[in-house]
Amino acid sequence: MKVLVAGGAGYIGSVCADLLVQSGYSVVVVDNLSRGHSQAVPSSAKRYCGDIANESFLDQVFRLEKPAAVMHFCALSLVGESVADPITYYQNNVSAGLVLLRVMLAHNVKKLIFSSTAAIFGEPTVVPISENTPASPVNPYGASKLMFERILSDLGHAYGFRSVSLRYFNAAGATEHHGEDHRPETHLIPIILDVALGKRQKLTVFGNDYPTPDGSCIRDYIHVADLAEAHILALEYLDRIEGAECFNLGNGQGFSVFEVVAAAEKVTGRSIPLEIGERRPGDPAVLVASSAKIRNTLGWQPRHRDIHEIIESAWRWKLEHPNGYNA
Ligand code: UDP
Repeated sequence: MKVLVAGGAGYIGSVCADLLVQSGYSVVVVDNLSRGHSQAVPSSAKRYCGDIANESFLDQVFRLEKPAAVMHFCALSLVGESVADPITYYQNNVSAGLVLLRVMLAHNVKKLIFSSTAAIFGEPTVVPISENTPASPVNPYGASKLMFERILSDLGHAYGFRSVSLRYFNAAGATEHHGEDHRPETHLIPIILDVALGKRQKLTVFGNDYPTPDGSCIRDYIHVADLAEAHILALEYLDRIEGAECFNLGNGQGFSVFEVVAAAEKVTGRSIPLEIGERRPGDPAVLVASSAKIRNTLGWQPRHRDIHEIIESAWRWKLEHPNGYNA
């Protein structure tokens, strides 16, 4: 079966493209390389450099490749950036995605796995967050993803379009060949590891006055390889559903920023100097997943639950690629 991976040069997309190849799928990657890295695309995947917002380009790819399903990872995904520049976020995460959906329908491709996010939940009042928790995003990034989930649900009713939205909590860690290389880097674990490497002087903790035990934000860090396995299961599951489904995808364990720093100090054997800064706009205090639905429905089980193991994999990749994919 041929799967088109839109955004397959990015962090999560490239790990999923790799696992699809290893699982015997034929893979076509489409990426505009605005944030992804061509070196991250598996060598056996066919690749097209272009933007999903470009309808004629995408139409040509579908005409040539005839994929049976799509995994859609193309998105801007930084909370702070989305607060500062919402137009760009709605353009990329909603409008461009609509072009992809239109082209899929034109080619009668009605199977999609969509990268959604815990950010759709905003400031949840109940933790852990289940699929029944009301979605109420507090930043444009989360709002753009929730809009797209809604669109997928409507497509399910109107056209028999099948989709699974996977709401990632905090993707982290690395596989043998793939790791985090965002430019600019804003994510906690790679920044901490840059401090450990001496590439940055210190970590700024964004707020220590949240209503959490140590005052810093709590997040649910999930290994990127575990995320990728969920995508394969979800792809197989598309044959057994009608319409749109969604699953929360996390470890089910929360760690504060200070706890992640302590774990990273243990893993690296280096001390991480830090300073306390202002809260980052749009950051909820606590985001921890209930993954009961995906465990029960798809039989998914995270293999790398220990935060030390997750950081250790990221550290190994960072040591081998101190300058990311440029190294
Ligand atoms: N964070 C921080 N300092 C940084 C980067 C992140 O204190 O330099 C915090 C951030 O406020 C959040 C957590 O670390 O509570 C995880 O942030 P990240 O950007 O990695 O992921 P997000 O939760 O935004 O998806």
